[in-house]
Amino acid sequence: MDRDPNSKQAAPGRVFIVGAGPGDPELLTVKAQRLLSRAAVILHDDLVPPTILALAAPHAEVTSVGKRFGSKGATQAEINERMIEATRRGLEVVRLKGGDPGIFGRLAEEIDALEAAGVAYEIVPGVTAGLAAAASLGVSLTDRRKAARVIVVTNHQAQLGSTPQAPDWNGLIRDDSTLVIYMPGRDFAALRAQLLAAGCAPDVPAALVSRASAPDERSQYTTVGRLHNLSRLDSPAVLLIGRSLDRAARRTDSGAALAFDEAELLLSSLGA
Ligand code: SAH
Repeated sequence: MDRDPNSKQAAPGRVFIVGAGPGDPELLTVKAQRLLSRAAVILHDDLVPPTILALAAPHAEVTSVGKRFGSKGATQAEINERMIEATRRGLEVVRLKGGDPGIFGRLAEEIDALEAAGVAYEIVPGVTAGLAAAASLGVSLTDRRKAARVIVVTNHQAQLGSTPQAPDWNGLIRDDSTLVIYMPGRDFAALRAQLLAAGCAPDVPAALVSRASAPDERSQYTTVGRLHNLSRLDSPAVLLIGRSLDRAARRTDSGAALAFDEAELLLSSLGA
């Protein structure tokens, strides 16, 4: 045991696992902003834009630990190790994640590692992408007249154990549900086929929102039956599907075009 009265053990630091929201700095929580402005160490994902990182204190150590665009990035073990090591130096760490940390954000794995190391932590929620997309589209994800539930799901082929898992759409399709699909992928023809095979009606509205809340946000409105016609938008993008989306046409870049398309169809069915 170290009995030297001059050697001071640093008080252990803490980790704040903070949601940065969908991109617009104005959608940060007041708490996130406060923690960012005073943290000594910030470890952030790629989805966090420079406008938010600019809120860090000048002395802060700001490190990207993201893995996008094919770059190697840090492994989960390395991220955990960095957080733990900084707290051992008595530092306050902000682990900054896009959207909300608890939605497809590997939050549980990081908490497990911090708990195993005996590190104190706190979770600060953020505005998740699906909520920002719904707000941009001007839709309510629940609607007591037509949408009784919201299902948050990813189309990403995640590894559960060692088996890649595609979502089981059969268990998810109901006419009174709104689906919020993160990481929807690019193969909308395959997704369309899977949704229709699971019993989704082709006339159910769908909207793809890219870079929700950012200045270059884009959106497209369609239906499940026409999903294969969606053009690929920049990532990150989220796909919303459900009867609650029927108001979205007015607010999307493609809404007017589709309305025109449908008017044309209607006219031709009237023999015009
Ligand atoms: N924790 C994040 C999600 C991380 S998974 C959250 O709560 O939002 C990454 C996926 O989130 C992306 O592939 C995309 O589907 C979605 N996403 C994140 N930010 C987005 C944004 N600004 N606009 C649209 N989709 C976004």
